[in-house]
Amino acid sequence: MDTAFDTDYLVVGAGLAGMAFTDRILEHSDATVTIVDRRDAPGGHWRDAYPFVRLHQPSASYGIDGVPFGSERRDTAGHNAGLYELAGPDEIRAHFEQAMQQRLLPSGRVRYLPNCEHLGDGRLASRLHRGQWQVRIGRRLVDAAYVAGEIPAVGPPPFAVADGVRCVPAGALARLDGPAPERYVIIGAGKTALDTCAWLLESGVPPEVITWIRSREAWWLNRRFQQPFELLPDQVVANAEMLAAMARSGSVRELFSALERSGMLLRIDESVAPTMFHGAIVSEAEVALLRTIEDVVRLGRVRAIERDRVVLDGGELPSGPGTLYVHCAAAGLARPPVRLIFEPGRITMQPMFWDTASFQFAMIGVAEATIDGDEARNALCRPLRYWDVELDFLTSFLALMRSSGSRAAHPELAAWARGTRLHPYRDLARWADDPRVAAARALSRASVRAATENLERLVEAERSGASAVPRPNPAAV
Ligand SMILES: Cc1cc2nc3c(=O)[nH]c(=O)nc-3n(C[C@H](O)[C@H](O)[C@H](O)COP(=O)(O)OP(=O)(O)OC[C@H]3O[C@@H](n4cnc5c(N)ncnc54)[C@H](O)[C@@H]3O)c2cc1C
Repeated sequence: MDTAFDTDYLVVGAGLAGMAFTDRILEHSDATVTIVDRRDAPGGHWRDAYPFVRLHQPSASYGIDGVPFGSERRDTAGHNAGLYELAGPDEIRAHFEQAMQQRLLPSGRVRYLPNCEHLGDGRLASRLHRGQWQVRIGRRLVDAAYVAGEIPAVGPPPFAVADGVRCVPAGALARLDGPAPERYVIIGAGKTALDTCAWLLESGVPPEVITWIRSREAWWLNRRFQQPFELLPDQVVANAEMLAAMARSGSVRELFSALERSGMLLRIDESVAPTMFHGAIVSEAEVALLRTIEDVVRLGRVRAIERDRVVLDGGELPSGPGTLYVHCAAAGLARPPVRLIFEPGRITMQPMFWDTASFQFAMIGVAEATIDGDEARNALCRPLRYWDVELDFLTSFLALMRSSGSRAAHPELAAWARGTRLHPYRDLARWADDPRVAAARALSRASVRAATENLERLVEAERSGASAVPRPNPAAV
């Protein structure tokens, strides 16, 4: 059966990107939207997340703008003690379901087709029956899956696994069959591996029976400085100090050292120079816990797990029965070539600058609805690749600083950004009379121009292979 219907926007993907966009289109326009996803429910990858995952940022600034999430409650136990709550997978999935059921669908302007594949050009195929739809798109196709990442739960590991070897994705750990393992080998350098190691240790597994294969060492952002509400002043002060460091550092190395000394950036092993930056946020207590794992293998990526050995890029490890391998090595954030966000008949959801995904994806919806012309929209919304290596932190931060003036100059966008709960500084007005915050704001204002100019120089020098550049005039800072 072939059916055709009309919609203004066809949104492919009911994850954060697609739903954040739709939420803002409904708020700022009278358009109709069809959302399609091959998964059975909204929430994207969170539908398949491991049971012990948590947001790495406070819930209060994550998710769909028009729907409340999180509370002003701070954790009192565990490695997030003292900091604002982090939603777990059930709460995150419930948030997306609530957004769909209580906000998007009741608008009467949204049609949602789960279990449905977009085949291209507005053609949809149900995964439950033989029906197909041809969507006549009035305004644009919105590709909200272009930068969607991979997670270990839904793909094979990127290495060969011999018959008889026990190798599971992180999520399977929580429901293990068979005898308890003698040893655990965790494979991966990112957030999933970090969560897995922390969860094992907190579950009472001794650190001596854990081997952690990390092909790269990562920089992690300190959660202490990513806090809203009562702890916002710490974030404002840390950001001001970061800008001042960006303005005065003579090299990328010097800058990262300064950010580490200030506590803004953390690494698990202080004897190894990080090269990776995925923007993940951790607490100091988590880092202290993870440092108890001493058997860290740095021989590159795993190529194969055989019955008696693990073959890596740079060597081999002995293996044996009783070892459980935990695959945490999916690519994570996707990094396809960047393309213009706004093109005739198409929007391609991508990150634009250093900020949360929720804020940026919602902002693309606001820009679509409130700005005239794709030239103006693209001037404001310049895409970049998701961060991967340490220099990406600086380039995405530069993009944030370069674009903030023009965003602020656009009245509707600026009004939305000031009021949204997704904005990290949303409560700043509460602290208007706080002398610490006032001093930090003054330092930020005094540093931002020099920080932008100096970062441009540092990034350029790093890319061209020159490790240090003449320091800027401190008087200008
Ligand atoms: C463990 C983990 C923790 C994270 N924590 C945070 C955090 O604290 N804060 C934060 O900001 N970000 C976090 N992230 C990043 C996270 O990826 C984003 O927050 C966000 O959830 C990504 O949403 P998305 O819509 O881009 O992708 P997805 O959630 O992957 O959604 C894309 C959807 O598109 C669908 N799709 C793709 N192609 C088609 C097709 N052809 N037809 C139909 N459907 C299709 C897929 O089924 C999928 O449901 C985390 C990521 C991971 C893996």
